[in-house]
Amino acid sequence: MNVSRRHLLQAGAAVAVLPAARLGATTITVAMPATVPRVAFLSPDQARDALAHGDAYYAGMGLQEIRARVGSALPGLSLVDARAAARDFDAAAVLPFSDDARAALRGIAERLQPLLLSRAPLYARTEWSFIQLDDRAEGGMPHTRGRHIVLPKAAVEAWTKKHRDLLAAGKLAQASFGNSLLVHEQTHVLERFHGDRFEPLFTQVFGFTRLPAIPQSAWLAAHRCTNPDGPDVVWAFDLARVGGSGWILPDVVLPDGDTPRMPEDFESVAIELAPDADGGHRIVVDADGVPRRRPLDKVPGYDAWFPFPDEDFHPNEIAAVALSHWILRDVPDLDKRPLMPAIADWATAGLA
Ligand SMILES: [Zn+2]
Repeated sequence: MNVSRRHLLQAGAAVAVLPAARLGATTITVAMPATVPRVAFLSPDQARDALAHGDAYYAGMGLQEIRARVGSALPGLSLVDARAAARDFDAAAVLPFSDDARAALRGIAERLQPLLLSRAPLYARTEWSFIQLDDRAEGGMPHTRGRHIVLPKAAVEAWTKKHRDLLAAGKLAQASFGNSLLVHEQTHVLERFHGDRFEPLFTQVFGFTRLPAIPQSAWLAAHRCTNPDGPDVVWAFDLARVGGSGWILPDVVLPDGDTPRMPEDFESVAIELAPDADGGHRIVVDADGVPRRRPLDKVPGYDAWFPFPDEDFHPNEIAAVALSHWILRDVPDLDKRPLMPAIADWATAGLA
């Protein structure tokens, strides 16, 4: 999930070209086949099949989340039927890729490849696989499903235009549009298939503790917003690390109401945890059964603990944000940010 970039895309700013020196003016050729990235574009039929199968994504959705996804209160529908409606809504939003869009996306992957080969070879060895959805699906946010990066139409169209304009101007070789977003999303694909590599980053570097199972709560089941890029809400954080006390579970929820908006009504929250008799943790609830929680950005010291405060509601997102910057080196003070030396140490081995 990439909440912040959605707004950039809508403002037409996400395709800003970073300084040309970043990647150099390297022209990728097919002279060295091993360096050519593999890029796949799913047909609408393939995409519909990939979205509907392969994980339990829709099976775990609560009603508030489904209402936000489809933009309807879905009156009278059972939860089972509402989940089917969410699946069908996404399937109906699948779009094919034009030849120009394929050239633009392939171009981004090819321009990134030398950097990935030298800095993060695991990415260079991994196929890029793309699905395109109309912007009405998934709140218009880029995200991943299985091994596929799901792009909103707005991003594909913006990059296709950028590709065409820079090609005409003879400046395509220096282009860096799309780099940050695609490396972020491909990180989620890698997290899904190489969880054993990423776990030490989450625990030893970020400081999270993996709970044995997702803590259950009837209120959360109805209000949680499933992040396709971080569905395992099992990462507890000990506030003693940031000078506080007690444990929290970062999560994303939606408020009550007939048609909550996605992502405008998303709430990143810190849910209070307490030790249970088995040595684990349980969710602390008020007398009415509602989990005790507060906005995540109001937890003293939490945002500042990580190198970037955006999207720190799940370690998968913290890693995608930090590793994208680490690979692209597109932030001047990167090495001075919190945890970055340890993240760099992990990445050097973990992404080899
Ligand atoms: Zn993400």
